[in-house]
Amino acid sequence: MSQKVISLTARQQAGQPMTPVEAIDLYGIRDWGLGYFSVNETGALTCRPEADPQDEISLVDVVERAQRLGLNFPLQVRFQNLLHHRVEAIQSAFAQAIQKTAYQNSYRGVFPAKVNQLKEVIEEILIAGQPYGSGLEVGSKAELVAALALNESSASLIICNGYKDDEYIRLALLGQQVGHHVKIVIEKVDEVERIIRLAEALQIKPVLGIRVRLASKASGPWANSSGDLAKFGLSVSEVLHAWQRLSEADLGTCLNMIHFHIGSQISDIQFFQRAAREAARYYAQLIKLGAPLECLDVGGGLAVDYDGCASTHASSMNYSLDEYAMTIVQNIQQVCNQEQVNHPMIISESGRATVAHHSVLVVEAFANVEKVRSFTLPQLQQLDDEPQVVHDTFSLRQQWLDGAEGIVVYHALLEIREASQQLFELGQLSLTSKAHIEDCFWHTVAEIAAKYHQDEDRPAEIKQLIEQLSAQYVCNFSIFQSLLDNWAIDQLFPIIPIHRLNEQPNHEATLVDITCDSEGKIESFISDRGGVGALPLHEIGEAPYYLGVFLTGAYQDIMGDHHNLFGRVNEVHVYKDASSPGGFYIEEVMHGSTIDEVLKDTQYDIKDLVRRFKFRVDQAVQEGQLGANQAYDVMSRYRKALAGYTYLTDS
Ligand SMILES: *Cc1c(COP(=O)(O)O)cnc(C)c1O
Repeated sequence: MSQKVISLTARQQAGQPMTPVEAIDLYGIRDWGLGYFSVNETGALTCRPEADPQDEISLVDVVERAQRLGLNFPLQVRFQNLLHHRVEAIQSAFAQAIQKTAYQNSYRGVFPAKVNQLKEVIEEILIAGQPYGSGLEVGSKAELVAALALNESSASLIICNGYKDDEYIRLALLGQQVGHHVKIVIEKVDEVERIIRLAEALQIKPVLGIRVRLASKASGPWANSSGDLAKFGLSVSEVLHAWQRLSEADLGTCLNMIHFHIGSQISDIQFFQRAAREAARYYAQLIKLGAPLECLDVGGGLAVDYDGCASTHASSMNYSLDEYAMTIVQNIQQVCNQEQVNHPMIISESGRATVAHHSVLVVEAFANVEKVRSFTLPQLQQLDDEPQVVHDTFSLRQQWLDGAEGIVVYHALLEIREASQQLFELGQLSLTSKAHIEDCFWHTVAEIAAKYHQDEDRPAEIKQLIEQLSAQYVCNFSIFQSLLDNWAIDQLFPIIPIHRLNEQPNHEATLVDITCDSEGKIESFISDRGGVGALPLHEIGEAPYYLGVFLTGAYQDIMGDHHNLFGRVNEVHVYKDASSPGGFYIEEVMHGSTIDEVLKDTQYDIKDLVRRFKFRVDQAVQEGQLGANQAYDVMSRYRKALAGYTYLTDS
């Protein structure tokens, strides 16, 4: 691996120039970017929405234009052309695999709505997929209601998964009546009787699929989507029972598809190989029993290489898109040839791999919390009245300054600090004396850490010390809203400055968000070793400093919770356009949540809040604490705050 990302040894000199190639290397952009991201000569991070080096948009340009439109941070930037390009890339990978293997049927992709339910995202995917007859996969009534309206092309598919009540099934049948290609996937045995009853009542012959519960089990955080104890899917005997019941009810001819889904972010290609073969057996054997099957739906799971390691790490993958398509096509083909049945139409439901790349979260880092404050230590002669232990600490420091070995001084300092703590607890050391010792300790260990920085062979203790001492950059966003998987399942996301990449970063830092939650921090960053504890960043000066969090288009957008009541972030939708300044235009601006909106969502009645606060203000006036004019100002400020953006704003 070429990636030197975030290697703590590569401490750089402040202000030294950095070339685009060095920046790309340092942050591993080539490894996770799939050709969609780069760095230009001015040190700006660029997006190539169609993976074409000739067509670049600078992210800082987008941010600056959004700011002129009055949008504050955090800002979600969506590259709509990139979304389009992903749909085509997946389609073309399967088309190539089909051509290479002379597979005797076609491929169709459907987008699982739960991965990003935002209307603009789904509409763009539907437009991109129209020439290929792709469509949507839905898992709930609400998603189906949206899909029935959004799917304008009658050639497109709508695949219905998830638990289904009567209303869900009725709605799906209704969709079929108005000309949609709806396939209802049986996920639970009791759905069979429901479908039989409702199809009879409505006099419709539905198009049905069965989700099989494969024995091939995946690893990783979503492993429970397959295997004996999976929540969804029919076991072998249930599949046979369903087939029998459908035949008895004269719906045998409706059985059209076998479906499976072994989980999301499958990092090892081997699992797809086994699953495709196992599902193809179900398909072939059921055909032999008389089922008129035509399709095999291989579900989702196609991974995203978030850390760029090309490995079986949870945040990575050991295969390419082309390899994935080839594995699916070839294995289904081999089994079908062996069983002497027709090749099925292959359907896949790739969510993550379709949408992860198109969305970048831009946050502003506005404060650098240095663990060691910089100030000058007192001189020894100023400490004449201090106890021996203070003098001992300062003379250790002197030994260090006189050239003693860092690790030796470090050990001695640890010991003396421990001793001073005991004296303090016994009441034998004053607060001031303790403060002198602490200051001297931190000053000196920071210098020791800095000295070892360049040293590849530094002791493990020093390495730990360096990580402890790395600064914290405070960023204007909420991890619980915008990056839930980082907190919930330790998912790594590439994070890099989107400008100043022509300048060597001279700090190593972790990130904290603005929620009051102590878990609201990021302390693991991508590297060729899977994850490291600090990120190389620039000094924050007078000018704003922007960081991009990449690959956030899948799941993060939609799962955010209302932790600390921050709510949705501002959003811009960017289209490339050679004739516009900067090569792009902003088509859509979405404002993030206001304070009154998030309060309403959590059962507050805004009028009631205003009334109660006003009561408080009136009382203060009566008690003479506030003048009438002041009371008016207080009330209007309160009202203005209610209508404002939930995140930190300048005004
Ligand atoms: C979640 C889900 C998907 C999407 O999986 P990805 O790994 O994001 O591609 C596909 N199909 C079903 C049935 C799902 O539940």
